Amino acid sequence: MPSPRRLRIAHLYADEMNIYGDRGNLLTLRKRAEWRGIAVDVTAIGRDSAPELDAFDLLFWGGGQDRDQQLVFADLTVNKAEGIRAAVARGAVVLAVCGGYQLLGNYYVTADGQKLPGLGLLDTYTVPGPRRNIGNVLIDAGRLGITPPTLVGFENHSGKTYLGPGLQPLGRVIRGTGNNGEDGTEGVAAGNVFGTYLHGSLLPKNPQLADLLLARALGETLAPLDSTVELAAHAMVAARVLR
Ligand code: GLN
Repeated sequence: MPSPRRLRIAHLYADEMNIYGDRGNLLTLRKRAEWRGIAVDVTAIGRDSAPELDAFDLLFWGGGQDRDQQLVFADLTVNKAEGIRAAVARGAVVLAVCGGYQLLGNYYVTADGQKLPGLGLLDTYTVPGPRRNIGNVLIDAGRLGITPPTLVGFENHSGKTYLGPGLQPLGRVIRGTGNNGEDGTEGVAAGNVFGTYLHGSLLPKNPQLADLLLARALGETLAPLDSTVELAAHAMVAARVLR
């Protein structure tokens, strides 16, 4: 008999970094897995522990204010770096939003000039911009092979992120700022590691991305779900942003 299917999710810094409803991403992943008969465990991972992160299929890391990022960066390099690297090497999926995305890279300079070393998992860096970028975002992420090819979300950040050579963005900005407001890129998609500025939450209105993450994390093709309601929400936001 095949073993029961189970998805193990780690919620990194669940208490310290979770703003603009980022937790909704976990609800979406859980429900879309459970609707397909896949059991889901979500484990909140905090500071001051060095858990075996390579036991997880998917790592989720939400956004945070500079203050929150200052709270976790030291713990990150001491207690989590090795585990996250091991998980990624084993093929685990990472989804990091805004503040989490910024700390996946080489460093993040806060709005008041403090340079926080990041995980160095990706060749990116983030520096403060002259203003906060706040508003709805529409991007074209067609290179991921998703349908529809657009992603909708909400950004609120002052950091400007730059991708090193050889890194591909999650998508191209149609409306909004994205990584830095200069090169038209939004987020990053490097193997199974995804970073983005899109809150919203991101996944409830982008079910096609949720399913891509689930399929990669489980290593299998998923049965389709009726996503009429989710895609109607997606289309409504996309139309509003384009107005
Ligand atoms: N503190 C970071 C910035 O302002 C990230 C903010 C966020 O996660 N929304 O750029």
